[in-house]
Amino acid sequence: MRIGIGYDVHRLVRGRPLILGGVEIDSEWGLEGHSDADVLLHAISDALLGALALGDLGHHFPDSDPRYRGIASVKLLERVLGMVQDQAYRLHNLDAVVIAQKPRLAAHLPAIRRNVAVLLSADLGSISLKAKTAEGLGALGRGEGIAVHTVCLITQLAVSLCVVIKFVLIRPWLLLALVTVGETATMCSVGFMRFRKRCA
Ligand SMILES: [Zn+2]
Repeated sequence: MRIGIGYDVHRLVRGRPLILGGVEIDSEWGLEGHSDADVLLHAISDALLGALALGDLGHHFPDSDPRYRGIASVKLLERVLGMVQDQAYRLHNLDAVVIAQKPRLAAHLPAIRRNVAVLLSADLGSISLKAKTAEGLGALGRGEGIAVHTVCLITQLAVSLCVVIKFVLIRPWLLLALVTVGETATMCSVGFMRFRKRCA
C-alpha cells in the first residue's frame, strides 16, 4: 500500500475552454496551459506518480515537447495509469480538493466525480471530490487561477486476496474451470495411488 499527493495550479484566462476531470464546463473563463490544462487530472496524475515515486507529470511529459501541445489530459492520465498497472498496483481511493473562486463548481461536481471514477476505472465510492473558494484571499481569491490538491492510496494487486476472490466471483466460467481442473486433478491422483497400490 502506498500513498501519493498531487498539486497543480493553472491561470484563468478568457477565451479558453474550462476542462476539469475531463468534463468541459460552460464558462467564459478557461485555464491556460500547454495541454488542455485540466488542473484536476494533472493533480491526480501527480498523486499517482508520487505514490510510485516516479517524479511528476512535467518530468514525463515536459511542456517544452511539441508532442504534448494541446493534448487532452485524459491521454496523459491513461499513460500514468499504465505505469500504475505495470507495477501491479491499483487505485484504492482518491480525495481531491479544487480551490476555485470562480466559476462556482458545486453544480458540476457530481458529473466531474462520475467522469473521474470512469477514467480511473474506480468505484464511485472510492473517489472523493470537493470544491472550495479561497475566501477572497491571495491570487486564487482574486480568481486569477484554479488550484487542486489530491491524495491517493494505491494497493499492490499481488497481495490483495479480496481482488483475486472478486476477480473469480465475477467470472463464473473461471470458477467452473477451476472446479473442473480441481476435480480432474483429484481423480487423477486417486487413480495413480490405486495403481501404485496394485503394482505393490
Ligand atoms: Zn497542470
